[in-house]
Amino acid sequence: MKCIINGRIVLTDSVVSEMAIVFDNKIKAIVPMKEINPDEYEVIDAKGNLVAPGLVDIHIHGYLGADASDGDAEGIKKIAAGIVENGVTSWCPTTMTVAKDELLTAFDAVRKVKAEKEYYGAKILGINCEGPFINPAKKGAQAEEHILKPDGDFIIENADILKLFTVAPEMEGAIECIEKVYKDGRVLVSMGHTNASFDEANKGIESGVCHATHLFNAMTPLMHRNPGVVGAALSDERVSCELIADTFHVNPGLYKLVAKAKGDKLCLITDCIRAGGMEDGDYTLGGQHVIKTGIRCLLEDGTIAGSVLKLNEAVRNVLKHTELSLSEAFAAASLNPAKAIGEGDYIGSLEVGKYADIIICDDAINVIHTIINGNLV
Ligand SMILES: [Zn+2]
Repeated sequence: MKCIINGRIVLTDSVVSEMAIVFDNKIKAIVPMKEINPDEYEVIDAKGNLVAPGLVDIHIHGYLGADASDGDAEGIKKIAAGIVENGVTSWCPTTMTVAKDELLTAFDAVRKVKAEKEYYGAKILGINCEGPFINPAKKGAQAEEHILKPDGDFIIENADILKLFTVAPEMEGAIECIEKVYKDGRVLVSMGHTNASFDEANKGIESGVCHATHLFNAMTPLMHRNPGVVGAALSDERVSCELIADTFHVNPGLYKLVAKAKGDKLCLITDCIRAGGMEDGDYTLGGQHVIKTGIRCLLEDGTIAGSVLKLNEAVRNVLKHTELSLSEAFAAASLNPAKAIGEGDYIGSLEVGKYADIIICDDAINVIHTIINGNLV
């Protein structure tokens, strides 16, 4: 049995000192430190730093040169191992709009890695299938030639490995697809890369959409007489919203508003691509040329092409630009996304009975240690 002492523990509603977390692969107890006999445990000294839940990234394409759409199991493991350094303990490898056979190959690669019993890094929860069922008018950096008519059967056939998928609710066949997947109940339906009107977005929500793919980016904006997908996603409390909090995709002046509107339905994501953790230069995303300069990744025509954000940086940015408490800011990158995809009973917070996915970080949210299933990695 292990225990962490001398930390400031970030619980769901408060930050407590003078307490210890006792765990094996799951959290066994959170007790006053004076009740701990150090001889009985393998002790980890947090040295006054924050002890927070492991982060959960439900929308990340790649890292360290690898991309989930490559269909390469070794690449998936490379990403999984790399993002541990950013405090991520669970993730959803996220595929792009690529050819259908490439997509199926990518699904198989993730299936293979997920089935392996040995350690490969952050835990794979399942795939986020972003596209191909999107609107060409809001394709962003997705390849137009591979966009397909929404097909609920395709999602259901792969529901063993899919956790969520993106659909533009205004496209022909989209509502039927949404209803089918929602009724099946295994894969979360997200709206995104969409040109839907407010009414079309609301119809999508009524049909089973309960998540919004990177709010504001690649969707109809909020206008006062035409509230668009942003208006629908912000207004409906059933809808959880992803936010790329890299200070570039969305003006940080809006973080406060989104946090207030969405509360525990705010999900910080990275949307990180293979250029993440790498030097500035030339990369690819879904087969398209991307140029990384600092925190910006752009296609040649200037279209934003994903990010190089790290999830711990997103927490830091949100803390800086909102009045969220430490508990709330960490929850936005752990418990909220875990709950959105139906994993909230097992991961996402420091509670007895959950997996011991724990990070130790300083006040600037620099990650010092990452613990997955009770193992320091
Ligand atoms: Zn993405």
